[in-house]
Amino acid sequence: MVKALVTGGAGFIGSHLCDHLVSLGHEVVVLDDLSTGSPANLEHLPSVRFVHGSILDRALVDECVRGAGMVFHLAAAVGVHTILAEPLKSLRVNLHGTENVVEAAARHGVRYAVASSSEIYGKNDADGLHEDSDRILGSALKSRWSYAAAKGIDELVAVETSRASGVPCVVLRLFNIVGARQTGRYGMVLPRFVAQALAGEPITVHGDGSQRRCFGSVHDAVPAMTRLLDTSEAYGRAVNIGSREEISIEGLAHRVREITGSASEIRFVPYHEAYDPGFEDMRRRIPDLSLAARLIGYRPRYRLDDIIK
Ligand code: NAD
Repeated sequence: MVKALVTGGAGFIGSHLCDHLVSLGHEVVVLDDLSTGSPANLEHLPSVRFVHGSILDRALVDECVRGAGMVFHLAAAVGVHTILAEPLKSLRVNLHGTENVVEAAARHGVRYAVASSSEIYGKNDADGLHEDSDRILGSALKSRWSYAAAKGIDELVAVETSRASGVPCVVLRLFNIVGARQTGRYGMVLPRFVAQALAGEPITVHGDGSQRRCFGSVHDAVPAMTRLLDTSEAYGRAVNIGSREEISIEGLAHRVREITGSASEIRFVPYHEAYDPGFEDMRRRIPDLSLAARLIGYRPRYRLDDIIK
């Protein structure tokens, strides 16, 4: 049994990670400020110790990391709406918060995993984004990209701190992970579509709906996260995690409507109405998963239809 600290553990992915860590027999501590997470996500896990606080609180972070055997750093300001509304907050939490967590892990010699994002590939839409792409963050640093920029720096901070301290780390580049407990409040497309379909409201597709994404199950992602932190060959690397089952956003709206048996109309909302004038989105985002396959035999088990159901 190892003591695991999960920052952002009251959130969507974090709470599933807590489920998994508890099922593996680990003792789990969560540090979360509940800005987007909810205590309800952890209610069924009475053994998890919950610490209500921010990763910006350096002393508190240090206290939580001390005595832990591994750290999963997932706390972040997330969601396109949050980021566009408050790019500075997003930068502050995602840069300084990560620095606090990573530095504490290095100081106490605790191996750590840091959640990054497919967003760092920017507007690259090559078929199969590979971890070694040198076009990362090639996009202009507009507020749209503040999250991506911060996650890119987080990766560098994580890996360089690991190199300097000798404490192992792995960077988890997550691609559109979905599942139960994800909320649509901050711009996440699948839970929003499902909620709209179930309520019989119009399903609102941003843009023309031809943009394509791959949605991965949280039940595939979470075991990959723990296994990567147990795999020395993964140390110091960034590893893509997600699915390669591709679908257009319009196609997703139709799929959700069919599966929920909804009669909702599908309505297209131009980007400049949904977000900001000049909002940019990636046309296509599909991960190259060969590194995760080689390191841990990663192969997603869940199909999109199962995830929607
Ligand atoms: P989430 O909003 O459910 O989880 C984030 C958690 O961090 C929340 O519980 C929130 O309350 C907490 N948090 C935010 N600011 C904090 C602070 N200052 N101090 C302490 N806690 C704070 O979102 P999620 O989808 O579960 O995301 C988890 C991680 O995975 C994030 O780092 C996110 O960037 C990354 N990620 C997620 C996806 C995805 O598809 N869901 C994709 C790429 C990356």
